Amino acid sequence: MAALPIHAPCANCGLAASEQRELIGTTVCHKGRFHGAPLTIVACPRCGLVYQNPRPTEEQLNRFYTQDYYKEQKGEKKRLALDEKFVLKECQHRWLTQHLTEIRDQDIVDVGSGYGQWLQLFSDSNRLLGIESSERAIQYAREWYGIEMRSLDFLGSDLEPQSFDLVTGLAIIEHFLDPLKALVAANRLLRPGGHIYLRTPDYFGLVLRSGIHKYFTLTHTYYFSLATLSSLLGKAGFEVVASERIPPLLETSSLLHRRNYFHGQLQVLARKRQDTSLDAACQRPYSGDDVEEVFAALHQAQTRDRVYTLLSRGRKGWVGAPLVRASLSLASRIAPKPPSKYEVFRAKREAAASQPNLDL
Ligand SMILES: [Zn+2]
Repeated sequence: MAALPIHAPCANCGLAASEQRELIGTTVCHKGRFHGAPLTIVACPRCGLVYQNPRPTEEQLNRFYTQDYYKEQKGEKKRLALDEKFVLKECQHRWLTQHLTEIRDQDIVDVGSGYGQWLQLFSDSNRLLGIESSERAIQYAREWYGIEMRSLDFLGSDLEPQSFDLVTGLAIIEHFLDPLKALVAANRLLRPGGHIYLRTPDYFGLVLRSGIHKYFTLTHTYYFSLATLSSLLGKAGFEVVASERIPPLLETSSLLHRRNYFHGQLQVLARKRQDTSLDAACQRPYSGDDVEEVFAALHQAQTRDRVYTLLSRGRKGWVGAPLVRASLSLASRIAPKPPSKYEVFRAKREAAASQPNLDL
């Protein structure tokens, strides 16, 4: 990929690109694949919003999503990956229906539907529409779930204004080059009293995830906290009615085995405001995070990664520190090697089926 050309001001408070503080550099594109230009992630010193700056153009990103995004998932690996994510989606669906009890018979549009597993959970609803750019994913959703899928530009779409009751977006808002514009577009699609449901990685959840270098990627242009996401929702004419910080799927023993696991997530449900125009909402004052706390969270994660690396090398004999090896040996007996990620998810799925209120 060519150099990344676009420098953007803060989407939350508007502070100029030149004022942003560099947080971390990375070269990861998506799931470990990227060999192009290095990426720079910055933090806004005024509101704490974390984002990629500079970033790719819309054309560069669209080319990647339509051609490459789902390429690495094939055969059994794809099936397992889908199954794992499906368990998470089931839990999120349960949370959403607890907070939005009138969800039956609604018209629902999902942005970035992927393989359609999320939408097919709303089979009681009146109309389901999935928006997706990957032809591979669209075909899968149509064939397996019979969902109406369309490949269109969400921001410039010809969808009828005020024609839906619920807009959902799982792991999508962090991909937009202009998230405020995307949220405003969602607002326009909603009828009065309509809702938006979003799930996105929690920036302050990254401290518990192993491998910080895998967290920052080309495709994630923004890294939200509950404060910065709520602020943007407010500017797009929404009020948050429910939110949750989902902790990482962390097994105690995974600390000893350097297992990779999901980082923390945010899920937010917000209602379309009736008492203000969109133009007025966009002028609302911003809220956010203390930028020093943003940097502190990253440093904590980096320190933890260095400890993991040391322990891992010690276990394999690269460093050869007998004390480290002995400690790990003892610890491994106390905390045996954890089950695979898939086994964990399968167990949670079975537990979820028998316990309606299971918390992740
Ligand atoms: Zn800012």
